Amino acid sequence: MRISETKGVSFAGLQRLSSSAASHKIVKADAILVSIPFESGGVPPWSFGGAPKLQFDTLLVRLETEQGIVGWGEAFSRCEDKSLKAMIETRVLPLVIGRSALEIGKIKYDVEFRLQNFGRVGPIIYGVSAVDIALWDILGKISGLPLTALLGGAFASEVEVYASLMRYGNCADVVRATRQAIERGYRYIKLHEITEDEIHAAVEAAGAQAAVMLDTNCPWPVAEALKYDRLLEPLNLYWLEEPVWPPENYAGLARIRSTGRHHIAAGENAGSLHDFVAMIAAGAIDIAQPDVAKAGGISELVKIASLCQAESIEFVPHCAIFGPGQVATIHLNAAQRSVPMLERLYCDFEAEIYGGATLPVNGKVAVPTGPGLGLDPDPGVINRYRVA
Ligand SMILES: [Mg+2]
Repeated sequence: MRISETKGVSFAGLQRLSSSAASHKIVKADAILVSIPFESGGVPPWSFGGAPKLQFDTLLVRLETEQGIVGWGEAFSRCEDKSLKAMIETRVLPLVIGRSALEIGKIKYDVEFRLQNFGRVGPIIYGVSAVDIALWDILGKISGLPLTALLGGAFASEVEVYASLMRYGNCADVVRATRQAIERGYRYIKLHEITEDEIHAAVEAAGAQAAVMLDTNCPWPVAEALKYDRLLEPLNLYWLEEPVWPPENYAGLARIRSTGRHHIAAGENAGSLHDFVAMIAAGAIDIAQPDVAKAGGISELVKIASLCQAESIEFVPHCAIFGPGQVATIHLNAAQRSVPMLERLYCDFEAEIYGGATLPVNGKVAVPTGPGLGLDPDPGVINRYRVA
């Protein structure tokens, strides 16, 4: 039986947890890049440099302890991000080897402190995020408890999922995807369109069957964002996400929010708790969207969730990945009193990294109950789609 299939706290698990920290030494740390083709019912949506592709990465970090316990984490990545993998392998992982897996907070602090000059947002913090997720997975496996239990317990056994549609850039495809998502049971749909015709067509297609959010990915200067804020008001969007360029223009976002026409969501491009402190202090957001694979992992998102609670800001994590980062987000969401929705990019993969266990059914996903993340990636899928 795989460790992740065991249930509850076993005596052996307690023994393992109480034994000396040295026995939980991390002896192996690897980055593994998997890239899996998908179908989204339209043209390739985004280019991240080079030609746009119909495939998404899962950049895994695999940590193994002296006792052979394996933890899985994930760094944000997109299309065969080999340079990102190299950065994590050469800078982050060497600082993790030889440490006790039980020192989650200390490892995170030490790695961040030592690598601070490489930037507080971006590849290094993505790597720190992946390590943090993997360490929480190991802690759960050592203790025999699911991540939700380590976070204070689950408020729900399943989490509502919203269909985060690709950017299609034409009315026919976005309308078809909207209708199909509703047929599949989604009650919340997020668009990534930035032109009026497509946005109107999709909102009309959704009708009363789904609430619609709009994520524009930072396309506009403040004056133009204000124009769209006014034009889009009659659509009653559930939220308006990242309308202003650049993403760290919190004062600009606050200008849009101050009209009171839309609930403003942002945060996927932020790097840590303190970015959210600044965002909230500026009056920029109603909804905070930290990404567990970008902003410092589970440990950092727990802090951001507390900040949001204290400031009466909604905490709805960003999630555009499909591996351990998505599973960690399911646990994090389930462990909040508000049980925020899980974001899932609307596409069908050629192969499922968890054999389908994370696929929504009727717009909801089950919260894993096994120790740690409760799910381990399928080694067959990793071998078949590994690119680096
Ligand atoms: Mg977004």
